[in-house]
Amino acid sequence: MTVVTVEELRKRVEASFGQVLDDLVALVRIPSVSADSFDQTRLHASAEAVAGLLEGVGVSAVISSAPAPSGKPGRPAVLGRRDGADGAPVVLLYAHHDVQPAGELDGWDQEDPFEPVVRGGRMYARGSADDKAGVVAHVGALRVLGDELRVGVRCFIEGEEEVGSPSFSPFLRQHHADLGADVIVVLDSTNWKVGIPALTTSLRGLAECQVEVRVLEHALHSGMYGGPVIDATTLMCRLLATLHDENGDLAVAGLLGREAAPVDYPEEDFRADAAVVDGYRLAGTGSLPSRLWTRPAIGIVGFDATSVARRSNTIAPTCRAALSLRVAPGQEPAEAYEALRSHLQAHAPFGARVTVTPGELGPAFLAAGETAMTGLAHWALTTAWGAQSVEIGVGGSIPFIADLAREFPDAEILVTGIEDPDTRAHSGNESVHLEELRNAVLAEALLLARLSGTLEG
Ligand SMILES: [Zn+2]
Repeated sequence: MTVVTVEELRKRVEASFGQVLDDLVALVRIPSVSADSFDQTRLHASAEAVAGLLEGVGVSAVISSAPAPSGKPGRPAVLGRRDGADGAPVVLLYAHHDVQPAGELDGWDQEDPFEPVVRGGRMYARGSADDKAGVVAHVGALRVLGDELRVGVRCFIEGEEEVGSPSFSPFLRQHHADLGADVIVVLDSTNWKVGIPALTTSLRGLAECQVEVRVLEHALHSGMYGGPVIDATTLMCRLLATLHDENGDLAVAGLLGREAAPVDYPEEDFRADAAVVDGYRLAGTGSLPSRLWTRPAIGIVGFDATSVARRSNTIAPTCRAALSLRVAPGQEPAEAYEALRSHLQAHAPFGARVTVTPGELGPAFLAAGETAMTGLAHWALTTAWGAQSVEIGVGGSIPFIADLAREFPDAEILVTGIEDPDTRAHSGNESVHLEELRNAVLAEALLLARLSGTLEG
């Protein structure tokens, strides 16, 4: 059995990094936009290019798709397989090869968002980071391992992440036997900042609903009836105001939350990132990362009341609002919805009729905690970057991660990535920091070698 040292792997990654960049340029030049209104033949070209890259590093690859539950055909994904030594663990590598549309061209400093431009140590192009960097990092890591690669490798390079992965679950079921693994490495998240790697250990879920407040069977003259009858818009405002206490913490019984791992996020950085107006006091108590990642949040995302332009001097009989509840990792979205529903009905102002209609539910994700595998992942990231890796949460959801967890309950899921706060995924001037990409290749090579038992020391 051949073994390899950390320094030897570092040298190999440096020597082969030009190839990683060439791979990235070739993939980025294929505008594999998955949105319906774009030419879907480019997705096939991109899937074929990805399959070629995998074959080039000894992974046999096929292109496949499954129909979504709606019956619509799924977009092409690339499945890769390389058998490992007897008894060695199996690692599933995930990334996606589809991209967002380029958007308005004036958001870009370059003429063609699909023609990469390198400046200031970053490569600018649509998909350069999200998530073609993930694809070439997997390939780059496999390339630098020869006989030292003893784990079994499975690859799942999805083609429809940017349109919400509609056929993800059917695809996983169809290919369950091909994709089963002990560890799943997802390269589609962000690092903490340039120079500081991160594992994403929690994602919030989602529970949406609509609430209607009704006070009258029909509108009434506000002069004749105003006083004893308060309009539904005011009643709705009173109802919604019960959701938070005076500190801005949620006041809904039954919603769970937890403390986030300690990460330094100075308030002034958050204020700048969020462009908060001067004088606004940040809501809630507890650490900022907890409020952003591991505790629930409720926002009113839609509101139907009579517009100012169309007003008449009447008492509004009804008012409707759409609520978005970001569910803390560790709580089922259906349970969180139920807590919100019963709060809204229990707080009906003046006994007005409150009707709650459920909307979309999306599960949260919470990594297994401190395990041997997360310890290994932190070691690989820290060694590759030369800086201690941290654990972060993401306040939004990545629905496919919950699908992976549901389909492969025994596999450990490691979520990391190559983005940084300046990446601007989905926006104009998307870019990848090339040193971060090189570190990500090395980190994955270190992890695979360690899991193979072929890393010296
Ligand atoms: Zn992505």
